[in-house]
Amino acid sequence: MAYGTISEIREALRSGESALSITESYLKRIKEFQNLNAFIEIFEKDALRQAKDVDVKIANGTAGQLAGCVVAIKDNICFKGHRVTASSKILDGFESLFTATALQRLIDQDVIVIGRLNCDEFAMGSSNETSVYGPVKNNLDTSKVPGGSSGGSAVAASAGLCTFSLGSDTGGSIRQPASWTKTYGFKPTYGRISRYGLIAYASSFDQIGPFTNSLEDAELITEIMSGKDEFDSTSSSREWETNVQEKGQLAVISEYLHHPGLDNEVKEALFSTIEKLKKAGYSIKEYSFPFMEQLVPTYYVLSTAEASSNLARFDGVHYGYRSTEAKGVEETYTKSRTEGFGKEVKRRIMAGTFVLSHGYYDAYYAKAQQVRRLIKNKTIEILTDCDAILMPTTPGTAFALNAISDPIQMYLQDIFTVHANIAGNPALSMPWKTHSNGLPFGIQLMAADFNDQFVLNLAKKIEKQL
Ligand code: GLN
Repeated sequence: MAYGTISEIREALRSGESALSITESYLKRIKEFQNLNAFIEIFEKDALRQAKDVDVKIANGTAGQLAGCVVAIKDNICFKGHRVTASSKILDGFESLFTATALQRLIDQDVIVIGRLNCDEFAMGSSNETSVYGPVKNNLDTSKVPGGSSGGSAVAASAGLCTFSLGSDTGGSIRQPASWTKTYGFKPTYGRISRYGLIAYASSFDQIGPFTNSLEDAELITEIMSGKDEFDSTSSSREWETNVQEKGQLAVISEYLHHPGLDNEVKEALFSTIEKLKKAGYSIKEYSFPFMEQLVPTYYVLSTAEASSNLARFDGVHYGYRSTEAKGVEETYTKSRTEGFGKEVKRRIMAGTFVLSHGYYDAYYAKAQQVRRLIKNKTIEILTDCDAILMPTTPGTAFALNAISDPIQMYLQDIFTVHANIAGNPALSMPWKTHSNGLPFGIQLMAADFNDQFVLNLAKKIEKQL
């Protein structure tokens, strides 16, 4: 039996299943689908013990909102006493010393944590092919990638290996794989959810978010995880806003609609959706967004700069892997990092070090910060008049494993998703259409800052209209 949503779990509990029997059925299913390589580790014993505790609470009438639900977490989210590696050799053997706040809030509502999920190394990638544990296969077509970097999280939610999963989104890592696995993937507003306990890639972009099989679930889970946390000074104390006025107007961006890289069927689907929404009474306003060409470069200058700084802590001394060859401190650093990091991560550390270096700082890093401001301003302007920006999530559908070897080609996969991370806005990818090649693709809605609940509800309405 596969349970895909929280309401299915609640139904199962009503009809006599227990948290334990539900957990056991997920464990069985995870093992059946091992070929997908979505799970790096199953927390079998712990999950069963947690399930028994939850059953006691259910019997006592003291169970939380997520009783019976099972979550699986991306391998960059800390869970005390469990291993976490960001799918990197450099964190080999490392065990979390504390639990991420976002996850703790779910646990406080009695969620059961069933295991950790494969991802691109340090969340850098768009296909889940940079993981030290090997690639994840797309459950809808195993010759294809699931997208990345949260590929394992997308597949786990899509294949019913958990009730919902957690991923992280720095440049699209939740929304892009959601688009390719027919799941809902939500990147909350920057600051909505604490980053405490999330292994940092690019701190001014990173957000934790859910993969679900319903919008209701995305809403509930995000709400539970959200809110101020004294351990993350960038977390916001803004209320979970539930009373945002709808304007009845949606924005589309000409440069996105007519982007030459956009697959023809995705483009047609976009235009036919616009027509349908007009018929349903929405006014659609087309804007020009003059920074289209700057999005991917701005993202890669700033995110690599932040990564080069964040990843400096992995030195073979403080955490995880240490080279056995090294003699002396200096060599321990160099050899451990050389052996511990994969090719893509090294590429980004070097790019980030370069853009921050004396003599190039103003030309790259400072410039990119200025462009980020312009992108933010223009986004605010559009979202002052409109409820959301409607756009594709991905230029096309999932590609074959090993199909893309050129890093620049890979970076261009993020063309429609990095906008929300550069600007910080909440953005959702929801399942939308099936391509004539048989693969799914999603549609994206991006709203004003802290309109997280609003955009999820808007999506519900739009889903009904379509
Ligand atoms: N694909 C993007 C990158 O490689 C996004 C990654 C992410 O969101 N973590 O940086």
